[in-house]
Amino acid sequence: MVKSVNYDQERAVAIAAVQQAALLCEAVRQEMVSAALEKADKSPVTIADFGAQALICRSLALAFPQDPVVGEEDGFDLRKPGMESVLAPLADHVGRLIPGSTVPEILDWIDHGNGAVGSRYWTLDPIDGTKGFLRGDQYAIALALVEGGDLKVGVLGCPFLSFDGQDRGLLFVAVRGQGAMMMTLKGGSPQPIRVIDDRASLNHRFVESVEAGHGDQSQQGAIARSVGITAPSMRMDSQAKYAAVAAGQAVLYLRLPSPKSPDYREKIWDHAAGALVVEEAGGRVTDMAGKPLDFSSSSRLVDNRGVIVSNGHLHQLVLDALAAPPSV
Ligand code: AMP
Ligand code: MG
Repeated sequence: MVKSVNYDQERAVAIAAVQQAALLCEAVRQEMVSAALEKADKSPVTIADFGAQALICRSLALAFPQDPVVGEEDGFDLRKPGMESVLAPLADHVGRLIPGSTVPEILDWIDHGNGAVGSRYWTLDPIDGTKGFLRGDQYAIALALVEGGDLKVGVLGCPFLSFDGQDRGLLFVAVRGQGAMMMTLKGGSPQPIRVIDDRASLNHRFVESVEAGHGDQSQQGAIARSVGITAPSMRMDSQAKYAAVAAGQAVLYLRLPSPKSPDYREKIWDHAAGALVVEEAGGRVTDMAGKPLDFSSSSRLVDNRGVIVSNGHLHQLVLDALAAPPSV
């Protein structure tokens, strides 16, 4: 398939790939075979992370063979001896969606996600919020296309998310310059989404991580109060937080560096898809100094500290409050 000027092909392939990966993730979750392995950095990984990466990389490799994919997972550990107990259920789950697929193929698809950041690349978090996935909370399948450092297409699949009491399973999609849409993960007609424009609403809420170690919750609370948000935070795992801001469920998402890991640099796949969905819904995304997130240089946002996501109106107020922290 050739690259398209208006990103129609990329959008369609990305949506279908994320939908397929979501089927695998929910099947794994329902069958309770999501026992976690531990990665070198001590974070958990499940067969659903590997399976989702395999499926999405396979789809991207078929449709856009020239495009590198910078994915969170890699198959290195799975190729070590003694991994049969992981490989068998992984092959079973992938095989239900891609009949006849073999273990060596699946490992090669996963490793297709070992690409490098370049002039045009995809970035993928097959399960963003693995801790939420394991806890039975929110998680997201996050896929974005970056060209010349600019986000062009973003798709967020959120199998456990629902707003206003509707059925769970939402998909968010944005193409630069074409707006942001929400649809059910099963398909259905996309509806445009917008951030909350109402400056006067007393009903403003902010979102932050469930995991206290992924941010600075005391400073986040103080900053939110200083810009007039009185409600307690909504705590959610994964880029579902970006979806909440984009769809007008919250006005602000704060992710300030944790005092326990001040040198942590955010990973591109934890932000790329969500950031475009929020920007195309009318919101704004920067680091805590007001700088745009830099997706052009490496798999980490090396020159950005913290992430501020807002409905736009609140953004400068938040940056001002950060520049002069309130006395608490
Ligand atoms: P969340 O669900 O928003 O808490 O974010 C989950 C993501 O946090 C994971 O995908 C990790 O890549 C990332 N993460 C891990 N450690 C940290 C840290 N110290 N600060 C910020 N993010 C982190
Ligand atoms: Mg992640």
